[in-house]
Amino acid sequence: MIQVLEPATAGVMAEVPRAGVEEADAAVEAARSAFPAWRALAPSERSAVLRGLADALDSHVEELAVLEARNAGKPIGDARGEMGMVVETFRYYAGAPERLAGKTIPVAGGVDMTFREPLGVVALITPWNFPLTIASWKVAPALAAGNTVVLKPAELTPLTSIELERIALEAGLPEGVLNVVAGPGSVCGQRLVEHPDVAKVAFTGSTEVGRGIAAAAAGTIKRVTLELGGKSANVVFADADLEAAAEAAPSAVFGNAGQDCCARSRILVERPVLDAFMERLEAAVGRIVVGDPLDESTSMGPLISAGHRDKVAGYVPDDAPVAFRGRAPDGPGFWFAPTVLCPVGNDDRPAREEIFGPVACVIPFDGEEEGVRLANDTIYGLSGSVWTRDGARALRVARAIDTGVVSINSNTSVRVATPFGGFKQSGLGRELGPDALEHYTELKNVYYATG
Ligand code: NAD
Repeated sequence: MIQVLEPATAGVMAEVPRAGVEEADAAVEAARSAFPAWRALAPSERSAVLRGLADALDSHVEELAVLEARNAGKPIGDARGEMGMVVETFRYYAGAPERLAGKTIPVAGGVDMTFREPLGVVALITPWNFPLTIASWKVAPALAAGNTVVLKPAELTPLTSIELERIALEAGLPEGVLNVVAGPGSVCGQRLVEHPDVAKVAFTGSTEVGRGIAAAAAGTIKRVTLELGGKSANVVFADADLEAAAEAAPSAVFGNAGQDCCARSRILVERPVLDAFMERLEAAVGRIVVGDPLDESTSMGPLISAGHRDKVAGYVPDDAPVAFRGRAPDGPGFWFAPTVLCPVGNDDRPAREEIFGPVACVIPFDGEEEGVRLANDTIYGLSGSVWTRDGARALRVARAIDTGVVSINSNTSVRVATPFGGFKQSGLGRELGPDALEHYTELKNVYYATG
């Protein structure tokens, strides 16, 4: 059995069966058997099933939010927002089956047409930081495109994915179309990646594990989508609305206790406004309320585990340049106070590695050229922001930063209808928006000779 912990108390909140190789194989077999009928369903019927699933999830939002808040240690308000996005994602892709159109291409002697065909059984492997949200980004387009699914959630946070399977069956998704296996990545996950009957792996997690998955998937030439780590830059120019930039910066790095692949954990500030920005940032960080995830006034919860807290603490040794820190509860639970380091050099370890905790590095810079150079001086390229009142510069810098998503005068990264994914070692492929469907289909070309 897997003992599932509640990070705010360090207590056991549930036990679930630990899936291994045998369970992974059984899930793949169930998905393989269910594929022909699911694929053959008329597009309007597949849409109707997915709309029914979205409605069923909508009616369970509150209980799913509480489960996610307790298991992942996230503030209940954030968890409600995430569950809202899960519903929205299923609604968005419920419309997709009837829009998966091909093309006709003019050629000599006949008609040439293209079709988007489903891949077959797809394995979806998810992390612990946004468990059901990230699962929905994969499950919804995969099913809409006519694939059947094996979903493997992270061992630390399997509960909402298990609930998703239950709710989906109740809502009328045929048996075998969605199968959840909760087990260790190195055993259950690895088996799915190597399984000859799995056509594609969509993975979200660390860059290190992603590298291994890409290599293992090569054995059977599986399609692979990777959403990996980040070390995104929040570039604040001297002409920016400093009040707004400083007000928004904490949630962009301390949201989800910093356990966010999009965390703008390198705050690049143009030197002439460094002091003014830091003063405003300190006030904003002081307003973060770290505490019980189920308390409505909480804005930041605990870290996911004791081991992860130790790893994060390793980035803040006694001689670290701590400019200021917030407050966190004592006692049981995996607490860590929001911490701002300044000044940090872009070559320093906390600025190079993904800390995945509530530690922000403030890095001063001089001028646009240096700002762009520092923003790009990383192996990652997932997200980022530019704060300036100069419209031309905003677009110039947004185009110059090698990253999958950039926001101008905002710190948001993710919307259901727009593509999300990484440049460089932050990943391969895109999720969300219309483009995600391409990653769950093969393009078939049919030529019909008309004589
Ligand atoms: P992780 O890489 O340790 O694990 C992710 C998933 O992979 C888990 O389900 C795990 O069981 C599984 N896994 C581990 N080893 C495996 C193997 N050999 N074969 C198959 N599956 C295996 O990541 P994590 O610690 O759960 O999550 C944190 C990481 O995820 C961070 O690096 C973060 O940046 C990244 N992340 C990225 C995105 C994105 O969209 N780019 C979103 C969220 C999190």
